[in-house]
Amino acid sequence: MESCIFCQIVKGAIPSAKLYEDDAVLSFLDINPINPGHALVIPKNHYPTILDVDDEDLKKVAVVTKLIAKALRDALFCDGINVLQNNFEAAGQLIHHFHIHVIPRFEGDGFKVWSGKPYKEGAMKEVQEKILAVIKK
Ligand code: AMP
Ligand code: ZN
Repeated sequence: MESCIFCQIVKGAIPSAKLYEDDAVLSFLDINPINPGHALVIPKNHYPTILDVDDEDLKKVAVVTKLIAKALRDALFCDGINVLQNNFEAAGQLIHHFHIHVIPRFEGDGFKVWSGKPYKEGAMKEVQEKILAVIKK
């Protein structure tokens, strides 16, 4: 995809700070990190979101995500690691080439991932049933 920044990185047309590469997967540093070492893991094939990714590519990306998480832990001695993945603009996706963020975390670094709110009476069961009805189809 000519218009996709990550496809251009895969092709080498745009430079990146690579951490890992094989036939199917590439990992490189995010240029705008939450913390230094914040990495991205992408399939080389272009898929817009998790709903589109080929299962075999998804498995390969998952294995490399673990490898990068371990490398961040061992190299940076981070206290924690977030593995995050955004789909569609409503969820904060800016680059429409499926990617996983692997973020080294340090005690007191101030990055807040989310704040949950409890269900109202009966609402948990209601949403569970809605989702199950689709999964069981
Ligand atoms: P998302 O909001 O999940 O789509 O995240 C896209 C990420 O890609 C952001 O964290 C950006 O900082 C990062 N990004 C954008 N362009 C580049 C680039 N050329 N090299 C590395 N990371 C990039
Ligand atoms: Zn792409």
